[in-house]
Amino acid sequence: MDVIPYSTQSITETDIEAVAEVLRSSWLTQGPAVPDFEAAFAQLHDVKHAVAVSNATAGLHLACLALDIGEGKWVWTSPNSFVASANCALYCGASVDFVDIDPHTRNMCPEALAEKLAVAKRAGRLPTAVVPVHFAGLPCDMQALRALADEYGFYLIEDASHAVGARYRGAMIGSRYADISVFSFHPVKIITTGEGGMVTTQDEALAHRLRALRSHGITRNRSELVHPEEAVGEWYYEQHVLGFNYRLTDIQAALGSSQLRHHDQFAAARRNLVARYRELLADVPVKQPFYSDESECSWHLYVIEVGGTGMPDRAEVYRRLRAAGIGVNVHYIPIHLQPFYRAMGFKRGQFPNAEHYYDGALSIPLYPRLTHDQQDRVVREIAKAVV
Ligand SMILES: *Cc1c(COP(=O)(O)O)cnc(C)c1O
Repeated sequence: MDVIPYSTQSITETDIEAVAEVLRSSWLTQGPAVPDFEAAFAQLHDVKHAVAVSNATAGLHLACLALDIGEGKWVWTSPNSFVASANCALYCGASVDFVDIDPHTRNMCPEALAEKLAVAKRAGRLPTAVVPVHFAGLPCDMQALRALADEYGFYLIEDASHAVGARYRGAMIGSRYADISVFSFHPVKIITTGEGGMVTTQDEALAHRLRALRSHGITRNRSELVHPEEAVGEWYYEQHVLGFNYRLTDIQAALGSSQLRHHDQFAAARRNLVARYRELLADVPVKQPFYSDESECSWHLYVIEVGGTGMPDRAEVYRRLRAAGIGVNVHYIPIHLQPFYRAMGFKRGQFPNAEHYYDGALSIPLYPRLTHDQQDRVVREIAKAVV
């Protein structure tokens, strides 16, 4: 029996040819393919600056560094995310806290954030940055988050790992509300480069810092040198800050540019499958994802919620579907329940909406090449498994 995965990459012959072309060229890294990919990505997201990085986790780390997040500072994120959304702050020596989700959108709840900010202000412990996560590709309520950011004076770093091509109230994610946005190109995401990520910003100074930090903190730009008198030859460069090697290769960037050219088609395929799920699952006793006309979700994941009194619980539904060859998965185990975070004092019960959501969550197959026949099989098996 063939297993239908919850997600998988879509690689075309043109993608393969684009990668082969780089392999035949003289640049495997630091050549022309990276700036080309950055320009194409910036154009799609309607943003001035795009900085390609080795993965989104590295991108989140650089975003924190570029905003001077370090010891004694606080970063808040959503517990309903991958651990990288929180770890990035710890890399910089900062402290992490969480804001519970809205059970409908499964994104950070703006009202919960407002309440927590009011308390933190009185305690003199306001966050330096908040990292909202566009879960499954559904944009967070960025107008509300931006208003709070302006009121309390914190930065917004969007974890847009799921949100390539997503739109919020007419604005592309990355173009308007956040200070820095970070996208992932892991194979299960909207487009892939194998491993890879993109950091975007509208702020030129931030973009400049991000580029320097991505490559060892080194510059070769003659106008920036601290010791121009030392620059007696072409070899000369200066390290100004402690940076990293978080570069993307040209091999990956060529794949990324080629994938971007398929993006419209990928997005249309996901929307078509989502419309079918909404209809096909309408009479099945599961909670379907929140749907908004206000935003364009990129539909990275299709997460249903199962369980409830008298029904098989999520673990049982998961087991039944896996046994039937449906590769369901779970997104996410709330970050604060990870042993590493519990060791910092986080406890079950602190973010009840995220915990309750997690108890029923099940990601069902969604990717551009999923056929209608396969999707019909998925729905038949879900209908059997949840009762
Ligand atoms: C995938 C993912 C990341 C990490 O992305 P990588 O490119 O694998 O480092 C971070 N946050 C979220 C929400 C993700 O889904």
